[in-house]
Amino acid sequence: MDFGNYIWRNGEFVSGDKCHISVVNHAMHYGSGVFEGIRCYETPKTTAVFKLREHMERLHYSAETLELQMQYSVDELCEATLELLRRNELSSGYIRPVAMYGGGKMGLNPHGAELEYFIAAWPWGKYLSDEPISTGISPVIRIHPKSLNPKAKVNGHYVNSIMASLWAHRNDLQEAILLDYEGNLAEGPGENLFLVKDGTLYTPIEGSILPGITRRTIIDLAKAELGVETVEKTLTKEDLLDADEAFFTGTAAEVTIIKSVDGQQIGTQDNEISNKLKHLYHDVVTGQVEKYHDWLSFV
Ligand code: PMP
Repeated sequence: MDFGNYIWRNGEFVSGDKCHISVVNHAMHYGSGVFEGIRCYETPKTTAVFKLREHMERLHYSAETLELQMQYSVDELCEATLELLRRNELSSGYIRPVAMYGGGKMGLNPHGAELEYFIAAWPWGKYLSDEPISTGISPVIRIHPKSLNPKAKVNGHYVNSIMASLWAHRNDLQEAILLDYEGNLAEGPGENLFLVKDGTLYTPIEGSILPGITRRTIIDLAKAELGVETVEKTLTKEDLLDADEAFFTGTAAEVTIIKSVDGQQIGTQDNEISNKLKHLYHDVVTGQVEKYHDWLSFV
């Protein structure tokens, strides 16, 4: 994978091929880092980053849950991101900030390890498919909120998502759906889940999910642009199988429509509302809807 010419590391822009970490790195051994996934898009003006500040605020939140001190403010991280895109001349792609407990300390208490901060960016097209995808209910359940905080993007939490993704691929499915510890619908390994039933959107309540920035965007766009309400509630697999339409949302996955669950087709697959939201989201993130330019940070 091409990581561009530069990586922002601890406040400086360094050449990507000179950017190394120690093999004795706390986050690598134990998962004690936090990260974000952000996208930038070409717009009619210049390249723009979608909801950059929200992502950097969530990075700060995730770090707090790990008692990981952020030495860079949200503003500094936003500015560093924009400058990284300028230096790398990246017109569209994916941005990955990481903060972690680094070298200098082993043992499970991370305090005392050197703190490391990175932002990398690279071109990245579709994460899932542009066409509706096959899914299945994974036997791997989403992390219990009393074990790990599902609202935080902590590196180690993602072994849960990796296990569900491995299960999906072993079973020739394009993506997994994870239930929560009570057996209700939670989300995908890296996506939130929406159902459409009788013209209303439904999405699982907070508790066992990462409340996604794309999830919030879709709830707001559905109401403002289509007059479609979203109900956040406890949902079951039966609700999903009985839905007229279903889709995933996420920064990487954008709006990805679900074709089937455990081999059963969802609705008639006309996907009228899902398709409208998918196209609307695309138009908004690519700067084609002037009234949502506030959500974009132009480089
Ligand atoms: N759930 C999980 C577990 C995720 O990793 C992601 C990706 N960050 C999402 C949902 C979607 O969140 P967002 O829309 O903020 O990218």
